[in-house]
Amino acid sequence: MAVTQKARDLQAAGRDVLTLSMGELDFETPAPVKEAAIAAIAAGETRYTAVDGTPALKAAITEKYRRDHDFLLSPEEIVATTGGKFLIYAALRATLEPGDEVIIPSPYWVSYPGIVRMCGAVPVILATQAGQGFLPDPQTLKATMTPKTRWILLNFPNNPSGATLPLEHAAALAEVIEAHPRALVLSDDIYELIRFDASPPGPLFAKMKGMRERTLTVNGVSKSHAMTGWRLGFGAGPAPLMAAIRRVAGQTTSNPCSISQAAAVAALGMEPSFLTDWRTALRTRRDLVVRTLNRIEGISCLSPSGAFYVFPDINGVVKRKGLADDTAFCTALLDEEALALVPGSAFGAPGFVRLSFAAADSVLEEAMGRLKRFCA
Ligand code: PMP
Repeated sequence: MAVTQKARDLQAAGRDVLTLSMGELDFETPAPVKEAAIAAIAAGETRYTAVDGTPALKAAITEKYRRDHDFLLSPEEIVATTGGKFLIYAALRATLEPGDEVIIPSPYWVSYPGIVRMCGAVPVILATQAGQGFLPDPQTLKATMTPKTRWILLNFPNNPSGATLPLEHAAALAEVIEAHPRALVLSDDIYELIRFDASPPGPLFAKMKGMRERTLTVNGVSKSHAMTGWRLGFGAGPAPLMAAIRRVAGQTTSNPCSISQAAAVAALGMEPSFLTDWRTALRTRRDLVVRTLNRIEGISCLSPSGAFYVFPDINGVVKRKGLADDTAFCTALLDEEALALVPGSAFGAPGFVRLSFAAADSVLEEAMGRLKRFCA
């Protein structure tokens, strides 16, 4: 968000800035979703709702998990919130004691360590390697877990690496976690529907033996339905945890926006064909970006299997240009070529940058041209 703000400032000063730093799709929110919101306003659905979501939204969430995942939920196991981010905050706020440890594989979504620290707990970073597809190694996880481990935050498809989690790998992680009865799993599935491979969709962990009673599955419509501004997330987990989350939400946000809830009911009920089109467009963009990046000397980039980011290693360029680090790379790129990317160190992975390919083909082509010129 800081990078994007700097890009906005440059734009306001008249520069032609290309912003590939944001975590949102460039597609429009689907028309049926917008219409449902307008209809909700007209019908007077403009008042407080139940803290954890309207009965209609909870029914739509239940139906999604039954229809798409053969996973049955009761209303006490579901909470809808003001964005997935707030659900993560509320869950950690409700459960963490000072000194508790939260294991976060890196690269991680920027907000995780900050939220953990806000709750008085300690983020424990578990580094992953590009060479291992950015997947957390079960043996390293085992060595990192202690009696103080309260949560393990897992996010697949991953922001920023785009990694997806194969079933066997998830099972190996679950086996390690099972030996620590106090540890809970937060499975952040927010990019669940943006996958380009045959990796299993969420809720992966909740469906595993012994994991349901200690897994919080986080999801929402921000990424799947191009609805970042509507602020509507939801999650499923064991009833006592969800009751605690409800108490945090009840004293802070009350309910998520009534109109956004009506819109989310429409979103979750939509035929998934629009997603097929989006995925096709995103895959083409991904391939263009990965191909171009790998042709630049000093950059190497894996092809992500989910989400809409690439996370190339740019160390070669940093060295060749005599830059201090990835942050200096991004600052110089923004100053010289007016192209906004996010430094990998924001995600706990110095030497990398994150580029969002959720932008029009013409924008991506122009951006790749500027990047090539900058790296030359
Ligand atoms: N988790 C991850 C990994 C994300 O990238 C984001 C959005 N950037 C969120 C959660 C939260 O999304 P929202 O609050 O918009 O639902």
